[in-house]
Amino acid sequence: MTKQPLMSSQDTAQFIPPDDRPTLITRVRVIDPSAQIDTYHDVLVSPEGIEFDPLDVPDPIVRIDGDGLWAVPGLIDLQVHFRQPGFEHKETLESGSRAALAGGVTTCVVMPNTKPALDTPEAVRFQHEESQRVHGVRILVAAAATRGLAGEELTDYGALHAAGAPAITDDGFPVLDDALMERSLELCAEHDLLFMQHAEDTKMTGHRPMTEGPTSQALNIEGQPADAEGVMVERDIALTEKLGARYHVLHCSTARSLRAVRSAKARGAKVSCEASPHHLLLTDEACAGGDTNFKMNPPLRSEADRQALVEALMDGTVNAVATDHAPHASAEKAQSFADAPFGVIGLETAFAALLSFFHERKIDSRAAVALMTAGPAGVLQREGELGTMVGERAPRDLCLVDPMMKWMVDETTLFGQAKNSPFLGRTFRGRVVATFVDGRLRYALTNPQG
Ligand SMILES: [Zn+2]
Repeated sequence: MTKQPLMSSQDTAQFIPPDDRPTLITRVRVIDPSAQIDTYHDVLVSPEGIEFDPLDVPDPIVRIDGDGLWAVPGLIDLQVHFRQPGFEHKETLESGSRAALAGGVTTCVVMPNTKPALDTPEAVRFQHEESQRVHGVRILVAAAATRGLAGEELTDYGALHAAGAPAITDDGFPVLDDALMERSLELCAEHDLLFMQHAEDTKMTGHRPMTEGPTSQALNIEGQPADAEGVMVERDIALTEKLGARYHVLHCSTARSLRAVRSAKARGAKVSCEASPHHLLLTDEACAGGDTNFKMNPPLRSEADRQALVEALMDGTVNAVATDHAPHASAEKAQSFADAPFGVIGLETAFAALLSFFHERKIDSRAAVALMTAGPAGVLQREGELGTMVGERAPRDLCLVDPMMKWMVDETTLFGQAKNSPFLGRTFRGRVVATFVDGRLRYALTNPQG
């Protein structure tokens, strides 16, 4: 394990089949915000558990020098598209898990817009079983709110919950109909499901390819008004407060939405939100060159909205950083800006992107880690079960981060099937160097010269 800054061409990433050999990480800084830990320990990781400063060290053992590294709980991504079933040419649970492991992410909440949609208990169980079969990451399903995501007939919320789905969403297709949304939130409250909303008044946006503003005007592209997000968040929060449901704003991206979330939280409403790395780091000006790796929905916003999002990250309004990892085949993204599909990948760069704000001293190390561990675990009401290394019910998931390592994102440093990253060519400081799932080392970044 190296601590030297590396260039991408020298890296060798290894995906390791599950192996029961324990690993000892010596003198590593352990940051576990849920357990309020930020201290140095020797950490023994094995399928039996994660132990700090063990008295007996088994043999044989894999040793990693933890000097300069952080050991943090396996990261959680609240919004991921793995495209299986139906779009396996874009990504599968297996290739997506590779991307997740390379990003330190051990738990993914998958969105239901597969084909068929994840709208039945069988479809939910398939996600769990298939990921286990391919030795993938931990999968939680945000099941479809309506049959086939058609926005007409509600799915069987009780059965979806019983199959293990913690959340409901029609991501990409917001529930526009007020009465249907009200009934959906009622059922979510009844079955203790989280409603995750892709907040977009599609009557206002027409799914147009970018945000309306100076850049869209310069490109002569009709844009979507940024207010289309806040309008829907405001409607939803009013319904949520009336019905007592738990409501989460996926990829929150405008100042107006954030104001609504912030004041709802202050009133004690059960409202949470997430921010994506691309909305935190990029603005719609990036679209000026027509590069479709800057096309996603919600689209990149103005600098004022981006700054509002960073402020919300700093003041705790944002509960979690989540990627909206949306893989597409190169040929699909090779179309014009107007015709290319929405969506960018994010699993492999999310934590590095988040560390930008740590290096800029906008958030501290504890907050950076919490935004992908304790924060999303809290949104899912799975504190103690996810996003921590400590306690009886904690998963034996851990990732090692070199917070100072400089690396450049390019096709050779991305290990998922799709390469449609908005950060290609960008240099980040901070990188995940090893990932453990269920106590087993599954990914390691090594430098042959290190
Ligand atoms: Zn969405």
